[in-house]
Amino acid sequence: MPIYAPNNICEAFVSAQDLALREDALIGRGRRPAVSGRYFNTLDPATEQTLAQVAEGESADVNEAVAAARAAFEGEWGHARPAERGHALLRLADLVRQNQEELIALESHDSGKPVSAIRRQDLPAVLDTLTYYAGWADKIHGQVIPARTDALTYTVREPIGVVGAIVPWNFPLMISMWKVAPALACGCTVVLKPAELTPLTALRMGELALQAGFPSGVLNVVPGYGRTAGAALAEHPDVDKVTFTGSPAVGRQILRSAAGNLKRVTLELGGKSANIVFPDADLAAAAKAASAGIFFNSGQVCSAGSRILVHRDIHDEFVERLVARARALRLGDPRDAGTAMGPLVSAGQMQRVLDYIEVGKNEGATLATGGTRHGSCGYFVSPTVFTGVEHGMRISQEEIFGPVASVIPFTDEEEALRLANGTSYRLAAGIWSADIARVHRFAARLKAGTVWVNTFGPTDVRLPWGGARESGFGREHGESALENFTEPKAVWINTRA
Ligand code: NAD
Repeated sequence: MPIYAPNNICEAFVSAQDLALREDALIGRGRRPAVSGRYFNTLDPATEQTLAQVAEGESADVNEAVAAARAAFEGEWGHARPAERGHALLRLADLVRQNQEELIALESHDSGKPVSAIRRQDLPAVLDTLTYYAGWADKIHGQVIPARTDALTYTVREPIGVVGAIVPWNFPLMISMWKVAPALACGCTVVLKPAELTPLTALRMGELALQAGFPSGVLNVVPGYGRTAGAALAEHPDVDKVTFTGSPAVGRQILRSAAGNLKRVTLELGGKSANIVFPDADLAAAAKAASAGIFFNSGQVCSAGSRILVHRDIHDEFVERLVARARALRLGDPRDAGTAMGPLVSAGQMQRVLDYIEVGKNEGATLATGGTRHGSCGYFVSPTVFTGVEHGMRISQEEIFGPVASVIPFTDEEEALRLANGTSYRLAAGIWSADIARVHRFAARLKAGTVWVNTFGPTDVRLPWGGARESGFGREHGESALENFTEPKAVWINTRA
């Protein structure tokens, strides 16, 4: 039997009154209610209790935020020395460190993520991102390109202007900073639209940015729904660039919205990543990483290893190990340091995952473990493993975004490659093998923005991150992100006498 923690957090947890917050938007120099005066609720998915009432920003609020961002870009921030931009990011990193317990608590209550995971992964990644891009701020330069003998010709990289950043709910703080930090390092100003399910840490970061000395209007945070606030930002004629992370369906919508003023767009979308286990792999390590690869963050990870391709010779042994790991995962109160898996982010997401589990059963896949809601309070779904999955099944092709692994057997390299590359996504893939030649052959032929070998899932802000096709386009992280937020300008100086 699975060793699950008793799911009694709804009774044990503090009452909604103790937590209820009212969170206004952050536009220009401080907090303000939405122009409409309306608020929406954000819930704690572990307890189903209302956590906060959040200002419901719409197009009027987006207009104000874009105007504030434009004024800051044309004004003080646009004239700040590059090194000053870096210093401001370092001060923000210091404030994140000083306020980390509050940020961890807010993130955990708002998203359901276990505090242990936020402390180990999200928070360090946020600090790393801020300090990494702080270092870039005064190193973004052009080139002297000797095109002519009668002219001095050179390039400069100018900040693109006002950036609209639209982010999802699965890593609210970390993904926000993946966009905000490079944009600010480049000298842009930002209007950040957090996901309606998880707006709290973005709003707190807006306050901390003001405290860190970023001028008014440099970072604005407008919470609200996608179809109103998000769409208004994507359509806005005075926004120069939209950087979006979320679903392919909304990514398409963003592209259409951006067509109005032909603003630049970067899209980080979904995935159905293959984790491929060859018979010469270290099976214990592969099973451990495959379990983390699909169950970390309750499977709500764009690069989740949701398709585990296993060579037939080791299939049964591997499945046994994977199922044992799934059953040993401890679900429960995200605030408990021993909790490995929290709830899904919302009732809607839980239902979507449970519906996919039904689809898998109806398609004829075998449920090796899990497959049900865990407990009756909080949006928990038990870690689920399907075996006997065929490539064409919906659970093998569509992004579930939950703790559901599909194990697909293969016979040889060619079949593994065909299966691995056989979806509409191109985000990430993993290979498990001790054969160095095979690893190189495979890494070269996998269609994915990231290939992990004998590991699965790590990201680092120094390495480009992104995909192709339905996984989107453009790259975040590293030096690539600087290209997202700058425009090169060529300058000719006539030197003829
Ligand atoms: P989503 O697309 O529903 O929402 C993302 C954001 O877009 C939210 O802030 C939402 O309010 C906003 N939005 C919704 N409709 C909009 C519209 N018409 N115009 C403008 N904005 C709109 O995605 P989600 O459910 O929050 O997140 C899950 C998806 O994100 C998954 O597909 C996942 O794979 C993807 N994701 C990708 C990455 C990556 O780096 N590639 C990382 C995390 C999540």
